[in-house]
Amino acid sequence: MRSGLLEIFQETYSELRPGYSPPELKIEFFAFANVNNTIRLRDGRLLVRLSDLLEGAPEAVLRAIAHILLAKMYRRPIDRGHAARYRKYVASHEIVRKAHLVRQMRGRKRLRLARGHYYDLDAIFEDLNTRFFHGLMARPRMSWSQSKTRRILGHYDPAHNAIIISRIFDHPAVPRYVLEYIVYHEMLHLKHPVKLRGSRRCVHSAEFEAEERLFPRAAEANAFLKRL
Ligand SMILES: [Zn+2]
Repeated sequence: MRSGLLEIFQETYSELRPGYSPPELKIEFFAFANVNNTIRLRDGRLLVRLSDLLEGAPEAVLRAIAHILLAKMYRRPIDRGHAARYRKYVASHEIVRKAHLVRQMRGRKRLRLARGHYYDLDAIFEDLNTRFFHGLMARPRMSWSQSKTRRILGHYDPAHNAIIISRIFDHPAVPRYVLEYIVYHEMLHLKHPVKLRGSRRCVHSAEFEAEERLFPRAAEANAFLKRL
């Protein structure tokens, strides 16, 4: 199967560049989240990565993708027949379904970051979203921190649209309302974007602080946090 693929690429190369001998080729299947194929020239070697979703594709489709990648690499016009054949295959139900399944599997892997040993940050977010924000807030990526840091309890990262909460709160000795208070604070950062002044990383406007006081057990939560 793989050696057949190599021949397909060598033959396609010769069609596109008659008179030139094909460079050394390395072709591998790669698990991209989407149907994706890449080609690079590195130290005189052509490196081709094909989406693992094309593994087992009919020869005509593999010839089509070989043509498309090599034509792009050497700036040759792309044959319409090949382009159509490739598009049709990718759009076919089987491929769409497989891509969807792969995305779901990888999505689940990512979700595990939000699920700690005791608390699920996605669930905490959705609960607070309903109670305080009419369910209108789009959920960012929720994640427990890698280490048990006490220095930063929570942090909203606008560049990655992610809320990171210190892993020290994923513990049965931490009351749920304390964790909720930390997450609520970070959600307010989402709601009140920071106008950067100097290098302060955590800026709280008067509106921000007024809204923070709406949290029912804010005083108790603050007392718990002071004891930490
Ligand atoms: Zn803050």
